[in-house]
Amino acid sequence: MVPELPPLAPAEFHRYSRHLILPHVGEAGQRRLKRARVLVVGAGGLGSPAALYLAAAGVGTLGLVDADVVDVTNLQRQVLHGTAAVGRSKLDSAEARLRDLNPHVAVEKFPERLTSANALDILRGFDLVLDGSDNFPTRYLVNDAAFLTGIPDIYGAIFQFEGQASVFAARGGPCYRCLYADPPPAGLVPGCAEAGVFGALPGVIGSLQAMEAIKLLLEIGEPLVGRLLLFDGLRMQFRELTLQRDPSCPLCGDEPSVRSLIDYDAFCGVLPAPADAAELEVTPRALRRELDGGRPVLLLDVREVPEWDLVRLAGARLAPLSRLPGLARELDPASDIVAYCHHGVRSMQAATFLRSVGIHNVRSLAGGIDAWALEIDREMIRY
Ligand SMILES: [Zn+2]
Repeated sequence: MVPELPPLAPAEFHRYSRHLILPHVGEAGQRRLKRARVLVVGAGGLGSPAALYLAAAGVGTLGLVDADVVDVTNLQRQVLHGTAAVGRSKLDSAEARLRDLNPHVAVEKFPERLTSANALDILRGFDLVLDGSDNFPTRYLVNDAAFLTGIPDIYGAIFQFEGQASVFAARGGPCYRCLYADPPPAGLVPGCAEAGVFGALPGVIGSLQAMEAIKLLLEIGEPLVGRLLLFDGLRMQFRELTLQRDPSCPLCGDEPSVRSLIDYDAFCGVLPAPADAAELEVTPRALRRELDGGRPVLLLDVREVPEWDLVRLAGARLAPLSRLPGLARELDPASDIVAYCHHGVRSMQAATFLRSVGIHNVRSLAGGIDAWALEIDREMIRY
């Protein structure tokens, strides 16, 4: 036996018996897993199945990074959490579930957002990092921090019915920046909250990430290094792209310019809220008073069609944010516009955009249609 590996307790022999009899794993492999330390960024859609399978497999130490609280809308896909955990911290909820699943696993909690200030300190000491984040700044941050720390980044991402997975920053392999040198334009890529996500999809991609992590820890099989796996859940098809390390990559290339962590929000064009954000907004109650007073306001619904079909404000006009640049020409620049969306984020982007093209009398409904349903129309359904 390999001397530096921790021994298995009698109860662990029993628990892991299907691994112990499996070629490529066996007792030595199981002890390697027990010695391993894996960091999971995000205890959400991808992090849920990944953490569950890593804990069940006997990975000795799981680090979890998440600052969020369990929301009832998470439960459609974030299977780490149950209904009783709504309102609790995701990390406390995850820890309880993982301890119940496998008490031999240590859980280290990092109840904070991963940032340029804390990422290197958090990643250091882990054997690999599994990216379960849902936004571009964090993906670049995890990639760069993994590369600079010298550990692989098990990447996964999902959108509606599609997902992708790969292994970045592994020795000799490409990194996320080799694949996507530039982030997509900010504001054009909606997240799960705006675009929706098929509930079982993160189960597929997060489980693939867990498999890749375990394979790397055991040094078995062929990892997704240099390959991007693409999954289309509607067609039920997998495709694969070959990736190569880009010699001109600013991080892992031959003459790197990125040698420390940067400001990823700025890199991805995530703008801070405009200084006059409050002036751009109108509260549901103030809007109600204006409408009751007969003020001719054009209500512009900048959500997507399925949301419009679900529920809308009376008299509103549909102009999804994704199509707004084309639709803006049809708007009368003199009209008094109130844009609204689900929670007030997209409508603020719409208001900022419309002002930039010369439509100045435009405001954003604070809190969106959800705030309207809470404060003005209690009969209205919330989603
Ligand atoms: Zn690279």
